Amino acid sequence: AGAKGADSTKGTVGAVALDGRHHLAAATSTGGMTNKMPGRIGDSPLIGAGTYAKDGTVAASATGHGEVFIRGAATATIAHLMEYSRLGVAQAAHQVLIKQLPQLGGDGGVIALDGKGTFDAPHSSPGMLYGYLTRDGRIITKIFPSESPANE
Ligand code: ASP
Repeated sequence: AGAKGADSTKGTVGAVALDGRHHLAAATSTGGMTNKMPGRIGDSPLIGAGTYAKDGTVAASATGHGEVFIRGAATATIAHLMEYSRLGVAQAAHQVLIKQLPQLGGDGGVIALDGKGTFDAPHSSPGMLYGYLTRDGRIITKIFPSESPANE
């Protein structure tokens, strides 16, 4: 699955994948924030902030206000909610993206895929472009929160 911040045509691109050997992987590329300070390092390259993958748990890639995603250890927290509180991927991602990070002042979204291939993409930002490939080979693309796979 891949996602892209909806507010820019040159923004963040993320990908999460589960392979045939049950390995999970995540990657995130960002141009950063508009008017960022020279030398700023956002959340995208920081494991556990904008990007995280652990076999058997989750692969997650985030977009949004990077400083808050770092403070909130966004993608690691999704994994910890799944491991220690036994939340499903959709509930864990929703908890972090919709409940925790906005309280810290951070809007954005995440694409998240668990070890069984369950995918969700919650976002507190108005729109987030993302797409995924279904088991039967269909390509699905979405943008608005009401279209979240968890709401299907
Ligand atoms: N999270 C990125 C950053 O703070 C920006 C983005 O996703 O658009 O660098």
